[in-house]
Amino acid sequence: MFGFEDMLHSEFTELPFKIMFYVIIFLFGICIGSFLNVVILRLPAGESILGIGGTKEDKEKASHCMTCGAKIRPIDLIPVFSWLMLRGKCHSCGQKISPRYPIVEALNGLLYVLTFYVLDINVKSIITCVLMSFLIVIGFIDWDTKDIYISMLVVILVLAVPLHLFYSREYEDVTLKSRIIGAFIISVPFFLIGEISRPIIRRKFEEDFRAIELGDSLMMFAAGAFLGTQAVIVSTFIGVIAAAVGGIIVKAVTKDSKFAFGPFLAIGIAIGSLWGPQIAQWYLNIPERLSGN
Ligand SMILES: [Zn+2]
Repeated sequence: MFGFEDMLHSEFTELPFKIMFYVIIFLFGICIGSFLNVVILRLPAGESILGIGGTKEDKEKASHCMTCGAKIRPIDLIPVFSWLMLRGKCHSCGQKISPRYPIVEALNGLLYVLTFYVLDINVKSIITCVLMSFLIVIGFIDWDTKDIYISMLVVILVLAVPLHLFYSREYEDVTLKSRIIGAFIISVPFFLIGEISRPIIRRKFEEDFRAIELGDSLMMFAAGAFLGTQAVIVSTFIGVIAAAVGGIIVKAVTKDSKFAFGPFLAIGIAIGSLWGPQIAQWYLNIPERLSGN
């Protein structure tokens, strides 16, 4: 089959073309990242995202500085670069602009570049880039609100379909069986741990929450279908380690022992989608290497 990939490969074998390609991917990624900021901010607030609906007042407010009311100029809207040029401050009153905006934009751009670099220039990379953007949105919204949007998990689940149709033959480790088992292998134990922890937590803290929330379990269901068994196990392993390290830092900084698990699972899934099978192989081969094979 001579298609999209062959075309790109023949065009981009030379280094200058490759560099240009990655620069374009990065710039595209930070522009999408700018839109992700809007989604992260407005979705939990119940505001309109594409400017559809929403009152005229809302739109007026969105185009002005929240503090001094100065109009936001077109030059202030360039992802990452505007924030750097303004040194993180409003051009008129000097009110600080959250560094989170350029961070989300740069993160999305870098993840796009990394995805194409690791998975090569193909359809799988495009689908994985979409996954990356959804992971950013899910992670940040969960961090802010401790809520995971089921609709976003459904998108990840649906993304697994074209991924499977395009790549089931090339990546033989990710069979349909592997995706089905992958969907259940983490989500079911997560659900059970959540259910078991509930009465214990209620008795001890007199609060109604689970050690692992239902959203985390459903997130690993969607991720399992996307990644297959091997990579979803790797993702969970990394997610749990990240949460343990992150939890210690969060507790030290905010003195709050409750924090969202979702952002850390998102980190695990992102790493699993890029290097899942390789990390699994490396880990399983440790005994052989230690015994001097
Ligand atoms: Zn201002």
